[in-house]
Amino acid sequence: MGEAVSIARNPTRAVGIGSIAIGGGRPIAVQSMCATKTTDVEATLAQIESLAAAGAGVVRVAVDTPKDVEALAAIRPRTRANLSVDLQENYRLAERVAPWVDKIRYNPGHLHHHEPDRPWQDKVRWLADAAGQQDCAIRIGVNGGSVDPALQARFAHGDSVGPMLASVLEHCAVLDAIGFDRYCVSLKDSDPVRVLEANRRFAAQRPDVPLHLGVTEAGMPPEGIARTRAALGPLLREGIGDTLRVSLTVPFARKCEEVEAGRRLLDDVARGVPVGEAETESLGSGLRIVSCPSCSRVENEAFVELAEEIRRMTRDMAACPLTIAVMGCRVNGPGETDDADLGVWCGPTQVHLSRRGEHLGAFGYAEILGILRKELDRLVGE
Ligand code: SF4
Repeated sequence: MGEAVSIARNPTRAVGIGSIAIGGGRPIAVQSMCATKTTDVEATLAQIESLAAAGAGVVRVAVDTPKDVEALAAIRPRTRANLSVDLQENYRLAERVAPWVDKIRYNPGHLHHHEPDRPWQDKVRWLADAAGQQDCAIRIGVNGGSVDPALQARFAHGDSVGPMLASVLEHCAVLDAIGFDRYCVSLKDSDPVRVLEANRRFAAQRPDVPLHLGVTEAGMPPEGIARTRAALGPLLREGIGDTLRVSLTVPFARKCEEVEAGRRLLDDVARGVPVGEAETESLGSGLRIVSCPSCSRVENEAFVELAEEIRRMTRDMAACPLTIAVMGCRVNGPGETDDADLGVWCGPTQVHLSRRGEHLGAFGYAEILGILRKELDRLVGE
């Protein structure tokens, strides 16, 4: 298991996750996530072991189907790594998943998709019960791109991190009310400025709750690392954050780079390097490519290559203040690209394209670059 780095921090409570704890003055743990198909037991096990060997204190795995749960049950006895599971749309799998993992992450924005008539508070209580019975921690993981629509509407003309913050606070209140305190929280967004503000505001209101830090869809290195350091550097220096992940769009075999970047960030903060200042300056206001870090749900492995090709193709447009979002699956693709000028999300044989939230169509992998370029030129012309 990775040796963690000590940095002076806020007095959050300790939350146990398998053999480690986060918060309560414990060293900050670096996390990462498998990008292999969860049902491919050997490949997923190999990735878990390599991430743990690189220094990941917790390794996350995606679970979408009962077959994924079966795979997890086969993986658990073969690794000592602390495992976390990402439930995304499938909160109802929690009961079957909990015996095999140390932490369950759910996204408040996804709880309304299934059983829409059941109050979300009931679902949260049920999740806490499933986790509690199996000695699991919970992460309430809110993402700027998938906040509950009812909350988005409430803050339509308000501040940009208000919906995320309100969502997380109301979920904390439900867990607090039933006495479940083995939870941490994350407030992620693809914009480092929003991550910074959301986490600062949460820490001010709930200094007791451990925080998992990260910039979601940070993109490819080196930009993805710079975006993460721009947000997390100042937070860590202020004593905010108990665990973190650097999400990077890299081929499956290079996933350890996430852990290496996380450890480097912690080392730099511990040495007093002003992490975040130079990075914020280097990001500027030109073309921004945000892309997901990929996971078990990637539908075509050409996704990472496509993201790299888009970066190459747009090098001459670096000064254009536009955002292109590139996502690896059709589950999260549509919602997570809504705020981008152009959104691209990958299906098994086709790539979907949207322009400022409007779906323009699905195109073959061979033709998408040309079509994307035309749309970009059109936007620049306007
Ligand atoms: S967008 Fe899809 S493939 Fe990418 S990390 Fe999110 S769930 Fe996984």
